[in-house]
Amino acid sequence: MGWAIELERTASPKKKPKVSELGFGKYFTDHMFIMNYDGGQGWHHPRIVPYQPISLDPAAKVFHYGQTVFEGLKAYRTAEGGIRLFRPSKNLQRLNLSNDRLSIPEIDEQLFLEALMSLVRVDSDWIPGEPETSLYIRPYVIATEPLLGVSPSQQYLFMIIMSPVGSYYAEGINPVSIHVESHYVRAVEGGVGTAKTAGNYAAGLKAQEGASAKGYTQVLWLDGVHRRYVEEVGSMNVFFKLGDKVVTPALNGSFLAGITRDSAIQLLRHWGIEVEERPIPIDELVEACRSGELKEAFGTGTAAVISPIGELSYKDEKLVIGGGETGPLSKRLYDTLTGIQYGREKDPFGWMVEL
Ligand SMILES: *Cc1c(COP(=O)(O)O)cnc(C)c1O
Repeated sequence: MGWAIELERTASPKKKPKVSELGFGKYFTDHMFIMNYDGGQGWHHPRIVPYQPISLDPAAKVFHYGQTVFEGLKAYRTAEGGIRLFRPSKNLQRLNLSNDRLSIPEIDEQLFLEALMSLVRVDSDWIPGEPETSLYIRPYVIATEPLLGVSPSQQYLFMIIMSPVGSYYAEGINPVSIHVESHYVRAVEGGVGTAKTAGNYAAGLKAQEGASAKGYTQVLWLDGVHRRYVEEVGSMNVFFKLGDKVVTPALNGSFLAGITRDSAIQLLRHWGIEVEERPIPIDELVEACRSGELKEAFGTGTAAVISPIGELSYKDEKLVIGGGETGPLSKRLYDTLTGIQYGREKDPFGWMVEL
């Protein structure tokens, strides 16, 4: 406690979009959180203000050197009208890990949590109540010092914006097809792959464009050194069901430690299913697919929760997984995770934080 968050309410609330038109990240709520950092003074002046454009000096460091990090989480409305967040402390911790990697000053976790909860409360009427809809929350930090020298910025803005999002699976859970990228790489160990930072996404667009042109939804990245071991898919971690066990790449310092990934592993182990975290060569998956050992594949991330993978293309080969259908384990994980988030199921791990 002890942080006084100022509140300035909007005089002109916006008209809310129709739920059918929400999509992802297109509309923003009436308010935003903002806080400044200045060298010598630290983080100061936390406030909730009407959602509005910000003005920056053209020399602001974020534009030139990409010193910026972000997070992504959701607020859910339960059938009883309650409001809940999913494991928010994990996002607070991860933002500070990203901050540390990008030489951005740490943000007090208690203040961050208070800011998050206060903002969600102020805009709580923006949390849609329809099935599988939610309020996506985007905290982020940008370096604002107007100085072209390459050194950590002495000024920053920490902001939180929020966007009501529609059901990811409005037409039912449809498996996606994924292109295994064998030319471009996203990150290497020792780089910034473990941080949620803008450059990782800008660096991935080229491959993503190529994959889209060939009709694939996303890219599966291989490791940057050998181009052999599976890392992650777009903004999701990735899992494979081989026979009776589940394998997922071990956290190796070159890709993001997803909170959904961690939650899926905990649930699978809770169900008595063996989960191996280890390096996974792409050749092993190709072989397992040919032999019928590869039963299911799915991605995990806050936006889609569980995204079944029905097809992988690697070099000139197309691998159809589980007949291109959503597998039973992917479905069970999706139903259980979303069940916990929306309060339809027991929360055995105490993941949900009630507002
Ligand atoms: C955000 C993100 C994920 C998924 O993380 P969650 O905490 O599960 O949402 C995975 N990979 C990348 C690159 C990401 O940016």
